[in-house]
Parts: sequence; structure tokens; C-alpha cells
Amino acid sequence: MAAEAKHFKYVILGGGVAAGYAAREFGKQGVNPGELAIISKEPVAPYERPALSKGYLFPENAARLPGFHTCVGSGGERLLPEWYSEKGIELILSTEIVKADLASKTLTSAAGATFTYETLLIATGSSVIKLTDYGVQGAESNNILYLRDIADADKLVAAMQAKKDGKVVIVGGGYIGLELSAALKMNNFDVTMVYPEPWCMPRLFTSGIAHFYEGYYSNKGIKIVKGTVAAGFEADANGDVTAVKLKDGRVLEADIVVVGVGGRPLTALFKGQVADEKGGLKTDAFFETSVPGVYAIGDVATFPLKLYNEQRRVEHVDHARKSAEQAVQAIKAKESGESVPEYDYLPYFYSRSFDIAWQFYGDNVGDDVLFGDNNPASANHKFGSYWVKDGKVVGVFLEGGSAEENQAIARVARAQPAVADVEALKTEGLEFATKI
Ligand code: FAD
Repeated sequence: MAAEAKHFKYVILGGGVAAGYAAREFGKQGVNPGELAIISKEPVAPYERPALSKGYLFPENAARLPGFHTCVGSGGERLLPEWYSEKGIELILSTEIVKADLASKTLTSAAGATFTYETLLIATGSSVIKLTDYGVQGAESNNILYLRDIADADKLVAAMQAKKDGKVVIVGGGYIGLELSAALKMNNFDVTMVYPEPWCMPRLFTSGIAHFYEGYYSNKGIKIVKGTVAAGFEADANGDVTAVKLKDGRVLEADIVVVGVGGRPLTALFKGQVADEKGGLKTDAFFETSVPGVYAIGDVATFPLKLYNEQRRVEHVDHARKSAEQAVQAIKAKESGESVPEYDYLPYFYSRSFDIAWQFYGDNVGDDVLFGDNNPASANHKFGSYWVKDGKVVGVFLEGGSAEENQAIARVARAQPAVADVEALKTEGLEFATKI
């Protein structure tokens, strides 16, 4: 039988967050049945990926599909598979594209099917960095797990059921490490985090911010081992991991290991075909790459961040959503000889674990000014940090903010107000933001 060959006006390659929001935008702008396809390696319609390290792992009332399909994460409509079929948008699932020939506008799947397009949106996201990539001894043992997609999350849930109340070592002190440590602790595991840096989330947190989270986690019973890395693993006769060997010689018992040491944008299919920069596919302010008619959105795009006048790549869900909407609006406007304003993004990151939640807007450069109560033992903890560069506030972090307060810090990061007196800013704290 000849391999499948299909043609679409628009193809979205990847079926994650950016794909779901792009599809919704196509729906809003108007798309004829049969014009649009989403091709995804995953077996399910686009969903809100952040749920995997939060609600999906809750001990009670855990989130499950179809509950968190896009676009519920931003308070929008939940696009069930029926939504796509009603609109005539084809969901081509469980299909990995292994070759992209942009000159002939052809994608080829692992099974040999070909898909041609007029306009392509690349939304392949990131893959996790694995310890096996670095040949870490014993890293292929059972129950050494990663988290990027539903299949990974299901493996973690199965391991949690098999190793109830056991010992977990979390390798990595970033987003994934912090959120998963909390989730596993809530499931009654004995949790130890290991990371090489002097404090957690060093890419964003200052030592003052990290002081709170490390203290809060310790108070919840999570052990933290800093300044060393996992150098190898021990396993039993079944190949199940039993211990993590640290570089400093210590050995930690483990029934489950979860590794969160970062990701890499999935751009290899386009190497040599599309201009790249800073590890991503370089785009203009409308997310069009160096190849006309080929767009890159979400984690894979290195785009002009107008506010800071530089090219950036952002691996966060808010940008995945907004870049998708911008690209589709630009594509549709171009077709009718119109244009849309340039993308003008304000970086926004957030995280939640236990009963704590933080938000960050802007840029974490310059001098940091910690304010508020960052005592982890305090019942009324609320604190934050400003970043001041060239006499202006360029970034704001806030733990425990209300909706209004979070809106206020976003306004500050966008407006970049001048600060004459940094000491006064520290004393004024959150009020500086709420009065703007
Ligand atoms: P993805 O959502 O990763 O989607 C990429 C899709 O492309 C996937 O479906 C993948 O299978 C598919 N694909 C890739 N290659 C191929 C191929 N060759 N053929 C076919 N399909 C392919 N961000 C935050 O701001 N806050 C958070 O709290 C937060 N939590 C997170 C928790 C977890 C567990 C993870 C993994 C990420 C989290 N993020 C968070 C980051 C956020 O989810 C990503 O930035 C966002 O999903 C990026 O969207 P995307 O569409 O670019 O990529």
C-alpha cells in the first residue's frame, strides 16, 4: 500500500501549548474545513503542559484529560477533540515527523507518510536533557524518570503507585525540581533534592528569594543537598534504581529518581534550512523565520523582544500562547493585505507548589532589591524583589500576591518607572507597585 500523502493550506508541526492556541486563533480568524492540520507525536489533542507537574500529580482530585486541554490554562475555552473535528481541523496524532524539506514544503513522518503545506508553523517545543545523554553511570536504570509529556507523567504516576511512601531523589533545583519535590511530598514520599548551585532556581531567584523557598521546603520535610551532582546510580537485580551516588561521595537511597536538569528546543529538523540564533529558530516580530511562509512559535522561536531591544528565546507557557496568536494573526492579516502590530512581549513566568505561588514580570537584570517578609516560618509571608537597572525598575517578583497586586507588578515591569532612592524602594516595598 502506498504511504499516505496529504496536502493542507496550513500545517502546525507539534501538538502542544502553542499548537492549541494557534488552532484557536485560526478558528477565530476563520479557517475552512480541510485547510488546517496539527501533526503531533503525542496521542492526544493539545493540552496545558504546566498541569503535568502540578494538578496531574495531586494525591486527590488529580487533573486528567480531557480536563486540561488548551485553552483552559488562560481561562479560555477547552478545545476538545470534537472542537477540531467540528471546525474541520485535522488532528494527526501519534505521528512523528522525521524529515522536513522546506524547499519542497514537505514533511515526512516516521511511517513514511508525507504532508505538504503552503504555510508551516513550527511548534515542536523542547525535549528534556537526559543523564543518559552524558553517559552518567547507571542512568538507564528503571524508575529514573523525566517529565515533558503525558507519557512521562503516566510513568511517574505508575512509579508513585508501585513505590508508595518510598524515597525519592529529585535531581535539579529549577522549576521542575521544585514543583515535583512538592508534588511528591504531598504524596507522602521521603524527598531529597540535589543540585549543584548555591541556591535553587539561580537563573531567576536571588539568594534572598531562594532563602524563603528552601526554608519553606525544609519546613515541609524536604531535604536539600546543594553543591554537588548525581554522578552515578545503583540498581537491584531487576534493574530498578536503589541509590544515587553523588559526586562528593555521599550516597542517597532512592526508589524513584526524577531528573529535571533543563530542556533543549527541538529544532534539529530545520538545521541548515532556517536561520538560527541563541539555540532557537530566528524569527521576526511576526514569528516568520528566514524562510517565507515558515513560522516558529513557542519554545523554539528566538524572536525580537521589543521592550529590551534584543533577540530572545523564552521557554514559558505565556509566551507559547501569545506567540501562537501573534503568528496566526499575522498570517491571516498578510493574506488580506493587512498587517498587525509587532509583537511587544512582557516576559511573564510563574510557579505554584504547596500553598505558595509566585509571579515574575520583566527582566531580572541589574541590582535586586528584596522587600517584604521572606521568613519561611512566617504565617503571613509575602515578599518580592525589584530589579533596578540604569535607575529604572525593569523586573518584579512577588510571592503570595493577590490578583490586583500581580497586575500591579506587571504594570511596573512594563512602565519601568525611575527610582531615585533604592533604600526608599526597599522600605516602600509592594506599595511602590500598587500605587502606579
Ligand atoms: P510544547 O508544549 O512542548 O509542544 C511541543 C509539541 O510538539 C509536543 O506535542 C511534541 O510532542 C511535539 N513534537 C515535537 N517534535 C515533533 C515531531 N518531530 N513530530 C511531531 N510532533 C513533535 N511554563 C510556565 O510558564 N509555567 C509553568 O508553571 C510551567 N510548567 C511546566 C511544567 C512542565 C512539566 C513542563 C514540561 C513545562 C512547563 N512549562 C511552564 C513550560 C511550558 O509548558 C512550555 O514553555 C510550553 O509548553 C511551550 O509550548 P510549545 O508549544 O512551544 O511546546
